[in-house]
Amino acid sequence: MTKRKAIFPGSFDPFTAGHESVVERALPLFDNIIIAVGDNISKTTMLSLSKRIELIKIVFKGDPKVEVVSYTGLTVDFAKMHNCKFILRGLRTSADFEFERAIGQTNKLLNEEIETVFILARPEHTFISSSIIRDVYKNNGDLTHLLPNRITKADLEI
Ligand code: ADP
Repeated sequence: MTKRKAIFPGSFDPFTAGHESVVERALPLFDNIIIAVGDNISKTTMLSLSKRIELIKIVFKGDPKVEVVSYTGLTVDFAKMHNCKFILRGLRTSADFEFERAIGQTNKLLNEEIETVFILARPEHTFISSSIIRDVYKNNGDLTHLLPNRITKADLEI
């Protein structure tokens, strides 16, 4: 039987407790989830690509269903290359919805065979974003409730 595979693309600068929840809750739906960390030269990130990947690998260490890779180019092309029929995304707010709708509909136009699947943020994760974490981190705040349990502030250091 063909495997039901999903790709979860994002910048993950850094990966948050909200991202972790999306992956965990989507796991029962798929045989494999590939977390695809965008390597976008036109976007400046706080963390290097290798650091962003390293942190996500800590979170899913020991889970054979989750793979972490970097990617460039169109998400639908990368999904097709890895035999993923599903793109996984998270939704926090109506602003997310409008943003995701445009991307999802564009991706549908680019590849009819790939479906985007959305997981709603848990209420306690709705306010969490990578940019909030970057702000708190730069100003030495407590990141305990914002980062996945397995990642500490020290892990973010280069
Ligand atoms: P991108 O740069 O592609 O927006 P992000 O790393 O910011 O990548 O987010 C990846 C996906 O995770 C997006 O679909 C985003 O809406 C979703 N997401 C971000 N934060 C949360 C959260 N706290 N809860 C649920 N989903 C989230």
